[in-house]
Amino acid sequence: MPFDLASRLAERRAAHLYRHRPLLETPQQPEVTVDGAPLLAFCSNDYLGLASHPDVIRAMQQGAERWGVGGGASHLVMGHSTPHHQLEEALAEFTGRPRALLFSTGYMANLAAVTALVGQGDTVLEDRINHASLLDAGLLSGARFSRYLHNDADSLAKRLDKATGNTLVVTDGVFSMDGDLADLPALCATAKAKNAWVMVDDAHGFGPLGKTGGGIVEHFGLGVDDVPVLVGTLGKAFGTAGAFVAGSEGLIETLIQFARPYIYTTSQPPAVAYATLKSLALLRSESWRRDHLNGLIARFRQGANEIGLTLMDSPTPIQPILVGSSERALKLSSALRERGILVGAIRPPTVPAGSARLRVTFSASHSEAQVERLLDILAECWNQMAKEPETDA
Ligand SMILES: *Cc1c(COP(=O)(O)O)cnc(C)c1O
Repeated sequence: MPFDLASRLAERRAAHLYRHRPLLETPQQPEVTVDGAPLLAFCSNDYLGLASHPDVIRAMQQGAERWGVGGGASHLVMGHSTPHHQLEEALAEFTGRPRALLFSTGYMANLAAVTALVGQGDTVLEDRINHASLLDAGLLSGARFSRYLHNDADSLAKRLDKATGNTLVVTDGVFSMDGDLADLPALCATAKAKNAWVMVDDAHGFGPLGKTGGGIVEHFGLGVDDVPVLVGTLGKAFGTAGAFVAGSEGLIETLIQFARPYIYTTSQPPAVAYATLKSLALLRSESWRRDHLNGLIARFRQGANEIGLTLMDSPTPIQPILVGSSERALKLSSALRERGILVGAIRPPTVPAGSARLRVTFSASHSEAQVERLLDILAECWNQMAKEPETDA
């Protein structure tokens, strides 16, 4: 029978993999109402607490009054407006790159960059746990596609030896489901030795990492020669929406000429770019947000270790608790939810089978007391679950 959707859906449900969309009935902030219930949330990517910042909201309102609501056309036709242009200049200056190019989403920025740079006869090498948008981009490009072992420069080197044509090495900066950092010093040196280019998608590093929030390249002090293609997204720590690619003049002109996900789409609303100029200024200057966030992360890791939870090697606001089976991950997240805590259960295929986890994330808008509450309730639920036998692998 063609399109047997019902059995596909039933299979997914039986495997504890069925997805639901929690309905958020309040703005993005620690205390939320979800599906009618008041909850304390630890699952947004609003790491610096800028998504509901009054100055950013005001900038969005002013931007809409001044520039209207819609982008109106693609960038190449008549949709490239002054706020877009100013934001690109500010992002270039921020990242220390000659130029930056604005996109409506990170998914599109990644598709654009990879498919404009490599194609048939070329090679794209990716970390095996890269974000789905990077893996999709590599497959779509038509280049020879291969995944190296997670964060392993030796595994990368072996693949580089077999590479043909232009070779692009692609990695998350901060890995989105594990929270660990790409070993960029080693990966970049390995790539450089073989004349390959490195592309870093630092969706989760911009904001929390680096002295001024410049992300993993600021953290490691890497310039455009080390990381020729640098991607950032604006919907996470920036608190708004969109994404950018930063790099050389030649790279940005190449994307404008050849990148189909750039060319064939309407520009983002100019008011969003206008608001992002404000959130960029806050992200750079208010380093107390990073300091407070790092304090929360340190306290959580200490408390979680005392409970006996398995954390990952993460210095970032992404602090996954490894649980194992999808069923147990769901069970723990629903136990937390019954006690007023919202944390996302991340299951295959987003993460490898057997490594389902609770993805706890922190924001500068959380208080220390809220982290203590999370730890108390986690201890209660974890001890409760330890007493119950596992019924499913
Ligand atoms: C969220 C994310 C993206 C996608 O960005 P959007 O702007 O949400 O489309 C890309 N890469 C990584 C690593 C991400 O975490």
